[in-house]
Amino acid sequence: MAKKCIYLFDFDNTLYDPANGLMNELKRRMGLFLAKQLNWTPAEVEERVEKLRVLHGPIITGFMREYPEHKIDVELFSQFVHDFSLPDYLAVDRRLQALLAGLPGDVYILSNGFEEYLDQALALLGIKDLVKGIYGIRFVQFSGKPDPNAYERVIDDIGVDPASVIYFDDNIRDLKPAKKLGMTTVWVSNGQKWQPPKWVDYRLADIYQLSQLDLSC
Ligand SMILES: [Mg+2]
Repeated sequence: MAKKCIYLFDFDNTLYDPANGLMNELKRRMGLFLAKQLNWTPAEVEERVEKLRVLHGPIITGFMREYPEHKIDVELFSQFVHDFSLPDYLAVDRRLQALLAGLPGDVYILSNGFEEYLDQALALLGIKDLVKGIYGIRFVQFSGKPDPNAYERVIDDIGVDPASVIYFDDNIRDLKPAKKLGMTTVWVSNGQKWQPPKWVDYRLADIYQLSQLDLSC
């Protein structure tokens, strides 16, 4: 009998169209929070936040590593960053519901977002009940993707052989550690035009193309 696959998805800009502007709003609010806390000018915010993202992945991970002297109040950070109307950006997605419901294996989320945000966002898309587990930035103790530790913790927690896991992400860089661990990698390119590097097994134009992949394990 064929082994069942585990389907592991990034969330932001993977399970919704980046054109909805949600990720930009989240990043804008993270920058505002740091600016307020540290008296950074808008130009300093732009430059430093981008650097944190490039070097460390999640802005909060980068901030904790680069500025340990500024003890960040994680609860305040989450409150501030998520203090906007999420339903303005996300609504029930029937096509996505049908796609996920039709997958022959369990669905999990591995995201650098906060669990409380992911919970609400998945509910708004109408897919929360189709997801067996949500792994956010709290679960990985703020060492988010592409830190290999994040992927290893999740694999451990699910209790699965990485060879049975198919991992989907819009961020090429975040697919690399997944491939290294032995997962099958799917790049949800969503308008990005780069040539996929060797650690990308499959490329989808958007998540709805998932139905055209033959992904048995
Ligand atoms: Mg993403």
